[in-house]
Amino acid sequence: MSIKLFTLGCKVNQAEAEVYREFDTSEDIWIINTCCITSKAESESLSLIRKLANEKSEKTRLIVTGCLASIRDFSLSDIGNLEIAPNRDKDCLFEILTNTSHIITPLPEELPQKRTRSFIKIQDGCNRRCSYCIVWKARGKSRSHRMSDIIDCIKNLSQKGLKEVVLTGVCIGSYGRDSGEKESLELLLNLILNETDIQRIRLSSLDVGDISDEMIDLLRNNKRICPHLHIPIQSASRKIRRLMNRKGWDIDIKRFMDELIENIPDLNIGFDIIAGFPTEKEEDFLETLDLLEKVDFGYLHVFQYSRRIGTKAAEMENQVPDSVKKERSSIIRNIGMRKKEKFLNRYIGKKLSILFQSESRNIKGFTTGLSDNYIKTLTPNSIKSGKILELKIINKKNGYMLTDLSGG
Ligand code: SF4
Repeated sequence: MSIKLFTLGCKVNQAEAEVYREFDTSEDIWIINTCCITSKAESESLSLIRKLANEKSEKTRLIVTGCLASIRDFSLSDIGNLEIAPNRDKDCLFEILTNTSHIITPLPEELPQKRTRSFIKIQDGCNRRCSYCIVWKARGKSRSHRMSDIIDCIKNLSQKGLKEVVLTGVCIGSYGRDSGEKESLELLLNLILNETDIQRIRLSSLDVGDISDEMIDLLRNNKRICPHLHIPIQSASRKIRRLMNRKGWDIDIKRFMDELIENIPDLNIGFDIIAGFPTEKEEDFLETLDLLEKVDFGYLHVFQYSRRIGTKAAEMENQVPDSVKKERSSIIRNIGMRKKEKFLNRYIGKKLSILFQSESRNIKGFTTGLSDNYIKTLTPNSIKSGKILELKIINKKNGYMLTDLSGG
């Protein structure tokens, strides 16, 4: 018997899925880790629940967890024989499955086969209350794993072949603040650097308000910390960011990004942008476009604002019509594609540090890799997974940057 996992949505869900995979059970259990960040994510989760409820056998336990299972008492009972585990009970999920209890999803002990990178969830929950977000309600208050446990976990996985750890959580900028001691993300990074020999450390997502001077120094002075920041700025307009209740809403984002790029060599910045937040006027939108034109970022994730019941933003007046939201997100996406090309082109002829992953599924004889600054690569040779090499980028191929060993 086994646990079968169906994971939708964010990296936190994915990190949890890796841990669930490790549990042995005498039963046949299917777990759906749902997402509800947008209406589309919600309907995808619902149709997967319906599909699996139809496919499962009488004896299979179908457990629905994740954010969708947490925000509503929707009539899932109509769908059939399933169990609901809201996020606040996710820890109890382990109790249900294994009779053990944990404060948050436990840290992984094993490395999935052939994996050289792994997400490690260091924190869960969020105290921030962004006005458009339902996730903080679904995930509960911020809580962190102890630093010593994270260090032990990374040491162990590193011995088993892990080369890159991606520190993830719902709000990793809040890491350690719940401990009552002076724990912080910066302190954790220092400890990982000093006490483990993991070759790469990547941060999953940080608000501008969480990127301290100390954090910038850490990224600048330590090659083992990947020069890659995923920053959910959401909008460049201070008015909109304040209404969103984003941490660091009053920071001059353009100046801040210039400072980051100047201080951290080869930094790849990815932005999350929400198009059409309530009250977003043409001039607010143009401020975002202006920022995107002026900053050399590497990629964008664009979301059309989605009205989530139970959030402050859903109740705001002056909701933006869907047609305007659609048009604005398409304009932003186009800028994103153009600037991504420009960012990637800068690296043709330059060397990057590449972690090799696996043989390409689509192009025979090529090995896929990931640079420290989050550029996907292809090399026309068979290279052992887990190897890290400095190689020259010679061209582009099928959405990847192409390199070869002679280019090194
Ligand atoms: S930081 Fe904001 S958007 Fe992110 S989980 Fe917390 S409340 Fe939601």
